[in-house]
Amino acid sequence: MQDRYAGDIGDFGKLALLKALAREGLSIGVNWYKTAPAEKEALNADGKFLIPERFAVCDPELAGKLNSISSSERRSIAALENANILPDAFYYSTQMAVENRREWHQEALNKLSNVDLVFLDPDNGLLVKSVGRKSAKSIKYVFPEEIFDYLNKNQSILLYQHRCRKKPALYFDERLQSLKAAARGKAWSIQAIAFPKGSIRDYFAISVNPDHDAKIRNAFESLAYGIWGDQGFCRLQPLPYVQCPSCGRDRLKPIVYGMPSAAALELEQNGHIVLGGCCIEEHSPNWQCSSCSCKF
Ligand SMILES: [Zn+2]
Repeated sequence: MQDRYAGDIGDFGKLALLKALAREGLSIGVNWYKTAPAEKEALNADGKFLIPERFAVCDPELAGKLNSISSSERRSIAALENANILPDAFYYSTQMAVENRREWHQEALNKLSNVDLVFLDPDNGLLVKSVGRKSAKSIKYVFPEEIFDYLNKNQSILLYQHRCRKKPALYFDERLQSLKAAARGKAWSIQAIAFPKGSIRDYFAISVNPDHDAKIRNAFESLAYGIWGDQGFCRLQPLPYVQCPSCGRDRLKPIVYGMPSAAALELEQNGHIVLGGCCIEEHSPNWQCSSCSCKF
């Protein structure tokens, strides 16, 4: 994360997600993975700063705070921290560089040691094979052992991941394998939520126990099944990745079986799930495609 991005539409989704996680009772730590831009990058800011009204309605107060930060003279990570968006969160905003990375990481572990869930906010996401650990680009990535160090202290992780241009099936398969490898057996579950507007942003949560797992799921669903999902700003991302066998698209609704609860009826009415009836059989379908209605 860099100061010059503070308050953009990416932060809008990111902070909404962290607010939802905090509402579930998880204490939150934020490691911004703060970096300074390379010189040529700094010249080319994109100017798309303000949050469009059709999304701002999801959380007008948050949108107002971010718009005032992004249009101010002092656009910065510090301004985000001081805007009282996550009142009880702990922040780690020391700048990281290739040379000080090990010490930087140790300090982050210490500063954020008392929280349930640590959000890691690199520019790009988890380290990929094509990027060397000592290269200038490496500061835009989280190293797998950094994830492990938090999990090993019984802290769950939320990781920002920029979606690359690979086919989604391949991208998700690779991410999932890499995250499992990074967790070295410490992951209770891995869940994901996607924010598809503009450049696609994915968030992967690695929980360390069933309590965190349930709270993370509730937080993801509260966004995806609430106004954020209704406005098309985010959606749950099934893992492993699934796509429709008929049309190849990946906007899928889960088919829920059994006597529906009041909550399930409401989800069905709002188009988030499909009710499959009371009886589930061996070959009952799990998904309905939103594009072609195929069930599989
Ligand atoms: Zn389909």
